[in-house]
Amino acid sequence: MPLKLLQETMRVRLLKKGAAPDAVETYFSRWDVALHADSAAPLPCPDCYVEGAVSLLCRKPSPAGVGIVECPTCMASFEFPDFQQVASTQGIWPTP
Ligand SMILES: [Zn+2]
Repeated sequence: MPLKLLQETMRVRLLKKGAAPDAVETYFSRWDVALHADSAAPLPCPDCYVEGAVSLLCRKPSPAGVGIVECPTCMASFEFPDFQQVASTQGIWPTP
């Protein structure tokens, strides 16, 4: 479940940045809303989120085995296990 792995990466990041448990829950509700609204919807950057801003992560092309998303605002990037090769920046969701 690469999506779950990406969520874990984000959860650890938020907690490291000092986000309160409530804020982490709110972050993931935004995520759920985005998931249900549009499967290609971008998810918010955790670093910007703890600063009170919503910035949308972009998927970067990557080889099979690793997924990379990057924030165009703060330039933070996040890696997570993903099994598919990604050749474009279209859509950021890992394969379920
Ligand atoms: Zn950011």
